[in-house]
This record gives sequence, C-alpha cells and structure tokens, in this order.
Amino acid sequence: MATTVGVIGGGQLARMMIPAAVNLGIDIRVLAEADGMAAGLAASTVGDYRDREVVLAFAETVDVITFDHEHVPQEILRAMVERGVRVHPGPDALLYAQDKLLMRQRLSDLGLPVPDWARVENAAQLAEFLGTHGGRAVVKTPRGGYDGKGVRLVRGEHEVDDWFASLASDPNGGDPNGGALLVEELVEFTRELAQVVARRPSGEVVAWPVVETVQRDGVCAEVIAPAPGSAGRIADVAADIAFAVAEGIGVTGVLAVELFETTDERVLINELAMRPHNSGHWSIDGSTTSQFEQHLRAVLDLPLGGTGARDDWSVMVNILGGPSSGSLIDRYAGALAEHPTVKVHNYGKDPRPGRKIGHVTAGGDNLDDVMYEARATAAFFQD
Ligand code: ADP
Repeated sequence: MATTVGVIGGGQLARMMIPAAVNLGIDIRVLAEADGMAAGLAASTVGDYRDREVVLAFAETVDVITFDHEHVPQEILRAMVERGVRVHPGPDALLYAQDKLLMRQRLSDLGLPVPDWARVENAAQLAEFLGTHGGRAVVKTPRGGYDGKGVRLVRGEHEVDDWFASLASDPNGGDPNGGALLVEELVEFTRELAQVVARRPSGEVVAWPVVETVQRDGVCAEVIAPAPGSAGRIADVAADIAFAVAEGIGVTGVLAVELFETTDERVLINELAMRPHNSGHWSIDGSTTSQFEQHLRAVLDLPLGGTGARDDWSVMVNILGGPSSGSLIDRYAGALAEHPTVKVHNYGKDPRPGRKIGHVTAGGDNLDDVMYEARATAAFFQD
C-alpha cells in the first residue's frame, strides 16, 4: 500500500499533518519554499513549487502528492498526473480553488447557492453591475488573494482601476483572465459559517459539524464549533452544499466551504479551500478525527474517521501577530499555568504583525466559559 505522502508547501497546514502522519506510521515529506518554514522538520526538499523540475523530482520520491496551499500551477499539476503521480486534490478540482471566476461559474452551473456575480473587464461593466445592485459591490481579483487581500468593497466604478490595469499588464506570463475581475453583490450576512468535509477518491464523504467563523480585517480570528443554533436546518443545508461541491467538482482530501448566512436565512457559498483549513483547526483537539489525519486518510484512499465532537463546544482562537517581544514559548509559563485545559498550537514562526503564528483551542459544555478560556489564553501571546 502507498504510504509516503508528499506535501507541496511548507506552511502550518503541512506542519500540522506531521503528527497525524507519525501516529499513523505514514511517511510524510514536504517540499518547502525556504529553510526554516513551519513544516521544515519534515522538509525533504527546499525549492520553488512553480519550478516544474523541482516539483517533478520531489513527486518521484513519494506515492501521493497533496498540498499546503493551492498555488501550484496547473501545467505542473498536469505534468505530474501525466507521469502517473497520484495528485489529490487533482488539477481539475484544484482549478476552482485557484480561480474565483471559474469557481463562481462552476458553482452556478451546479445550481449551488452563490451571491449574484459577474465577470467585469472594465469600469463601464462594473458601473452596470453597481447600477443593478444598489450602488455597492465587492470586487475580487480572481487569483492569488488570501486573508482578504484582493477583496475590495466598492461604491464607484473607478475604485478598482488599479487592478484592471495591473492584471491586464501582468508581466509574469499573463493573467489567464485577461485582466477581468469578479464582482459580487454585497451580501448582507448575519454571520459567516464554514463547512469542512472530506472525500476519498473512491467516493466516501464525511462532514464535521458546521462552524461559525469570525473574521477581523479579512482574517479569521475565531471559530466556534458547532455554529451556535445550527442544529437542524442550517447543519443539514451546510453539509448538503459541501457534499454537492465535493462530488460535483470531484474534490479529494479535505474541502472547506466558506459560507454566508444571510439576513433572509439563506446560505450562500463564499469560497472553497481544498486542503485543511483554519475553520477546521478545532478538530485536532475537539473531534474524534482531526482534519489533518482525515486529509492523510483521504488522499491515501483509506477509510475516513469519525467526525463527531468530543465536547459540546470547542472554540479556536488564532494567535495573530504574537508577542511584541520574544517568542510564544517565552509566554508559556503564564499561559499554561493559568489555562491547563486549553491546547496551544505553535507554528514555529517568528512573530510579525497580523501573521498567523499559532492557535489555541478550548472545549467544554458551557460556551461562555469555553470562549473565555480560549480568548484569555490567546491574549497571553498577543500584546
Ligand atoms: P480571501 O480569499 O482573501 O479569504 P474572501 O473571498 O474569502 O477572500 O473574502 C474575505 C472576506 O470578505 C470574507 O470573509 C467576507 O467577510 C468578506 N466578503 C467577501 N465577499 C463578500 C460579499 N460578496 N459580500 C460581503 N462580504 C464579503
């Protein structure tokens, strides 16, 4: 049986796959972009994931290829598949995590609920969309955005002229969308949800409880599992949507579907991530099977693990930026003594404003207490 998994990308998602691989006795090798990255302790290659030869040579050393991020170019993904490498998720699925315009089109074709959207190539087309959507809209660069970068709320058709210009004159081999942008209705949402599921190549799918995600400045700050008040309709709707995406697009491995719960009680799809996701970190401590173990099981086409919650409530709080001086470990004496039931996850990254350098997860049967524990612990690491 195939037992060596190669992960392209050396970030914290690859890092958190390592203990899961060790526990299952699976070899894990990482292609890291640089020395000293979060997943450096499993890095067998340091190189550029956009370099075809680097990636193909790395793929030769493993049984299955998977990812810490979605940025490996399609041409390289397809070259691996042509050489018989097992790539999960495959290029045909990953395309929709790489390009938000293609994603919106595909989800619309599948009849799944998405915000009103359009492809716009110039200010005149944007003006037309604004005219039919109350004069406000959200414009997104189709590729390369993350943590809110590449997302802009606009009230006038000239507010993204810089993006039209820079994409149309992209010096790095051209923008596959020819400078076009995605424009969406400004969704009036009461909260953001995320539904994480996993799917094996042979078809088995499982879902964790739907969670509520809280973003600050476009970055995920907190996750509550399950989303309060979600038992029943919302849980079913969210799981059905994510299963339809996983099956409709043929995703293998973990899939996170970011959702909006709207003021008129609809659930709309915002984004897709085809890898373990920040909204699933709580599962390491809070679920029978963590999303990282599940991802390995799924990409190896092994039976999937239970997705039930260990506690009534789990709350995950990101450590964003970190302490103004010293490292996370310098704060352990206080944090661990005060909060012995909270689990601290340190990605081994240097503190830097806004950077995700770790997270904490608390669990229990009273949401207020669990929330307090998680926030108070995270506060030890941020000042
Ligand atoms: P990224 O790829 O950077 O994570 P997203 O597309 O997820 O970008 O958008 C980041 C955040 O911007 C979302 O979490 C949400 O808070 C807000 N947002 C995105 N699209 C819309 C929309 N159509 N209406 C309202 N808010 C939106």
